[in-house]
Amino acid sequence: MTRGIGLYVHIPFCASRCPYCDFATAPATTALRSRYLDALDREIAREGEILGRPRARTLFFGGGTPSLLEPAEIQMLGDALRRAFVLRPREVTLEANPATLDRARLEAWLALGLTRLSIGAQSFDPRGLRALGRTHQPEDSAAAVTVARDAALDVNLDLIFGWPGQTIAAWQRDLETAAALKPEHVSCYPLELRLDPDGSIPNWPGGGWPVLERWRRAAAAAQPDDAGIARMYRVAERVLGRAGYRHYEIANWAQHGKRSLHNLGYWRDRDWLGVGAGAHSHLAGARSANPADLRSYISRAESGSERVVDAESDPPSEAAMLALRLDSGLDLERYAARFGDTAATRVRSALREVEPAHLVQVKGHHARLTPRGRLLASEVFVRLLP
Ligand code: SF4
Repeated sequence: MTRGIGLYVHIPFCASRCPYCDFATAPATTALRSRYLDALDREIAREGEILGRPRARTLFFGGGTPSLLEPAEIQMLGDALRRAFVLRPREVTLEANPATLDRARLEAWLALGLTRLSIGAQSFDPRGLRALGRTHQPEDSAAAVTVARDAALDVNLDLIFGWPGQTIAAWQRDLETAAALKPEHVSCYPLELRLDPDGSIPNWPGGGWPVLERWRRAAAAAQPDDAGIARMYRVAERVLGRAGYRHYEIANWAQHGKRSLHNLGYWRDRDWLGVGAGAHSHLAGARSANPADLRSYISRAESGSERVVDAESDPPSEAAMLALRLDSGLDLERYAARFGDTAATRVRSALREVEPAHLVQVKGHHARLTPRGRLLASEVFVRLLP
């Protein structure tokens, strides 16, 4: 593992649960919080030892809301990471909810080498934040950008489009407001409402899945239709393109030299280790995951159980799909060298099927999604499955 790994650390705690979210989350006030952090410590030590204390090329703290950790907790986490890995990352990202970062917390993250703040703005429209069940205010995101600038950090802004009742004009205003803040990076995700319970439901007290399901069904009924979502995606391409951002991945735009190095590791199918509840890993061609339910995660970490290997994963088709997500596309010659001629021929013929619909462009040994293909990427990807 001479090239090192991407290291992802999952902190599931949130101040409240946003009803559309299906990440592995848990209440920040859970009685399990300190047990979780102990279990995480243990998992970090164990994985570092198994992998021979590899170098972490990039480090990403995601969640949940990792920006809610207390300075002492951040310091303990940093100590555990330094013991288990060679920490000389080129990029350290922290996901932050607007209005959660104070000076003391930020100092603790900076001591850990933070270079980049990914702010979950989601919308600058109070109606959007209400429709999404978010608890922050539109002005909190600009304030968080100022905090990041004062600390000389790069900024990513996460935006969500297609929320109930959103109009094209409202989305355009969100994009223009985001671009005016001049973040180095912008991610735009369509609101996707999962209608089956995710693994972190038991972490939250209260009504559980029936309450969330009711909310999601009502929200889904009020979302823009597919044509509306498609128009919004094209508006994002136009507004962010004009503002100087390169659309380098289906949902991601960046200023020159400011692509997310950590996420590029995922799309380039490199080795990465995810620690914490619900975290996924990809090491030596094998994918595995931890349970999202805090109690199961803690008991597995305490007993030293291995992560659950994803037996259904198909490395050749996954590598093809990941590469096609990027604007650099898929190099079919290198793909054949890695997975063999049979796999490459299968991918070629699958792509040929969708070429007439202008979803992909294959030139020589290079395949790329067209702008239309980016919008309808799932129609391409489904053909690449085994
Ligand atoms: S969207 Fe973010 S803040 Fe909301 S529940 Fe999910 S992880 Fe927590």
